[in-house]
Amino acid sequence: MTNLEFPKSAWIDDELSMLEDACRQFYERECAPHYEDWEAEGAFPRDLWRKAGEMGLLGAEVPEAYGGLGGSFAHDAVIAYQGNLAGIDGWGGGLHNSIVIPYLIHYGSEDQKHAILPRMISGELIGAIAMTEPGAGSDLQNIKTTAVKDGNHYRIRGSKTFITNGALANLIIVAAKTDPDAAGHGISLILVETDGLEGFRRGRNLDKLGMKSNDTSELFFDDVRVPTSALLGPEEGQGFVQMMQQLPQERLLVAVYAVARIERALRHTVDYVKERAAFGQRIAEFQNTQFVLAECTTEGTVAKTFLDACIAEHLEGRLTTEKASMAKYWLTDLQAKIIDRCLQLFGGYGVMAEYPMERMYRDNRIERIYAGTNEIMKLVIARGLLKD
Ligand SMILES: Cc1cc2nc3c(=O)[nH]c(=O)nc-3n(C[C@H](O)[C@H](O)[C@H](O)COP(=O)(O)OP(=O)(O)OC[C@H]3O[C@@H](n4cnc5c(N)ncnc54)[C@H](O)[C@@H]3O)c2cc1C
Repeated sequence: MTNLEFPKSAWIDDELSMLEDACRQFYERECAPHYEDWEAEGAFPRDLWRKAGEMGLLGAEVPEAYGGLGGSFAHDAVIAYQGNLAGIDGWGGGLHNSIVIPYLIHYGSEDQKHAILPRMISGELIGAIAMTEPGAGSDLQNIKTTAVKDGNHYRIRGSKTFITNGALANLIIVAAKTDPDAAGHGISLILVETDGLEGFRRGRNLDKLGMKSNDTSELFFDDVRVPTSALLGPEEGQGFVQMMQQLPQERLLVAVYAVARIERALRHTVDYVKERAAFGQRIAEFQNTQFVLAECTTEGTVAKTFLDACIAEHLEGRLTTEKASMAKYWLTDLQAKIIDRCLQLFGGYGVMAEYPMERMYRDNRIERIYAGTNEIMKLVIARGLLKD
């Protein structure tokens, strides 16, 4: 493959560089040979999660006191970037590592952390976060799932949809109304361990455009009883604020995926245009090809530089929600544009399943929708700009 590489990130030190190598080997050895099978099956095998745990690729952000490496988002960004650079786009490890685990780190009680985090690090527990419902996606304050106190238990009733890792997850953070009459202030997050849990049901593994190896499911809570100690945080009604606090890291993670995939699309395309010929010359020799590749590589390099600046700010605790939203919206839009332009240079082979651009084209579409749609990102940016 071409040696095209985006500039190395200044925040990557020697330790993270070693992690990059370990990730490359893991994805190449354990994932790439089986990826098509997992696409057909609609999920990664549970066994792969265990292997990732053994390799130290789960829960890198978890402090040592709870069995983790005491790392930071930098570790998870490396794991996610290398996975997407290697074409392992559908693995829900990013959500488990950078979205679900941080809720426990930030808001979990000591008992919850000791009981749950070691099992998330080993891959015994696979994490999911269930916010979206059939009637409430962008408008999260309008969720209908309830968690009503009954003695020292909550009774959870409602349904969720579009939940990543939904078919496999056995540790689910459920957003529910503990005060059904209130809007955002009525929402709490509840930790639900699903193995053997009465009243909990999974719906279909949803058939979707792209990301076929990633399970996305409906979840049903038919009067599920969990102890009140499963509440995340010291008191009820904190769920909306907790979600708003954690969303910037979720958005940054999606931005990491986007830039890694831009780099990968360009690598595939540079290789292809050097091989394929038309009118007696290589596609690479047409000036249009050269201009497209020059433009896309320039934009990708600028994108990586912006992403690195956002990651550096996040590592210092300075990344604003507005800037995380800019990264999510702008980099996923750019990803879609560049993948489309690269696909065009493959001609008809671009849409053939044996060639890499076909999967890249369908896999990237969801990135502009989940983790907050790009329209919602623009609202967040504008609100920050216009506030008095
Ligand atoms: C593959 C996949 C995986 C997902 N994983 C998860 C998960 O793990 N956990 C989870 O909880 N959710 C998950 N989601 C849900 C995802 O976050 C939502 O789909 C997303 O937030 C949008 O909600 P919606 O689909 O209800 O669209 P809607 O909110 O109905 O939006 C429809 C359209 O209206 C626009 N719109 C809505 N409000 C406004 C506004 N105020 N101003 C302007 N435009 C607006 C939107 O941008 C969009 O274009 C996933 C979704 C998919 C498809």
